[in-house]
Amino acid sequence: MITVVGSYNVDIILKVNKIPEIGETVIADEVYINHGGKGSNQAVSAARLGSNVRLIAAVGSDTYGYNAISFWKSEKIDTSYVTTKNVSTGTAYIFVDKNGRNIIVVNRGANYYLSEEDLDKGLSGDILLTQLEIREEVVKKALREFNGIKILNPAPAILKDTDILSFADIITPNEIEFKELVSTDDIEYGLHMLLKKVKKAVIITLGDRGALLATKSGKRVLIPAPKVNVIDETGAGDVFNAALAVYLERGYNIESAVEYANKIAALSVTKMGALGPKLEEVNKFLEEL
Ligand code: ATP
Repeated sequence: MITVVGSYNVDIILKVNKIPEIGETVIADEVYINHGGKGSNQAVSAARLGSNVRLIAAVGSDTYGYNAISFWKSEKIDTSYVTTKNVSTGTAYIFVDKNGRNIIVVNRGANYYLSEEDLDKGLSGDILLTQLEIREEVVKKALREFNGIKILNPAPAILKDTDILSFADIITPNEIEFKELVSTDDIEYGLHMLLKKVKKAVIITLGDRGALLATKSGKRVLIPAPKVNVIDETGAGDVFNAALAVYLERGYNIESAVEYANKIAALSVTKMGALGPKLEEVNKFLEEL
């Protein structure tokens, strides 16, 4: 079983001709309301690949929160450890102009109230997958106390306490997050610093170039992603992390798991939306590769 400890947000996307100036009012051309948040996206993407997934997250006592729980149930996720807080559900307001530029305002809502105590009963399984959209103390406790393979997707890469990294087996920053974590452009030196902290490996995701796997035992492998027709890259990182957890849970070694994660994340960018493909679609794609 994969246990995901993380966030849920309702993403409210407003397409506008122009992002408003202070004091200005503009009319939205289109509005989309999507399920989002890295915890939820990764949990749903892993469940779609056929794994048993438990989500430990917090929603608010509002319609968004109830909708989120029924969505997870419809995706066959174990929601027994989702807690409902007496605040609003996390929401992200995303304004996108006609050139694709955006401004985003996040209301952390219930995500901020997910507590260390909320982890107490649900923290079991084979793989832990967590990110940094919830309070750092909660992430730290999850990583410290989980017995199994622990993956930290350090996104967003804002860490007050870098000791957290020492409780993770594998960390999976993208290129920007990697640079933020190590504060240097020197990749080899940055890897050296991070590998001193984490237990097993650092995987840097590199968009269409695939991913760089660096292990504590000194291995460095650039594992390419297949070439695909890109439609929407949103959430590629979430699908990558979910697939990595799924293939590690199935007993694949880390290099093979990264190969699969690249392929499945590449498939996900050929479609709109942040959630990953279903197993049947993946099997068809893998056969055709
Ligand atoms: P996002 O923020 O869009 O969710 P990210 O910045 O966290 O993504 P990326 O490094 O861009 O993460 O992408 C994650 C993985 O998705 C890559 O390692 C690769 O496997 C796959 N991927 C992303 N973009 C492409 C692409 N254009 N073609 C093929 N594979 C891709």
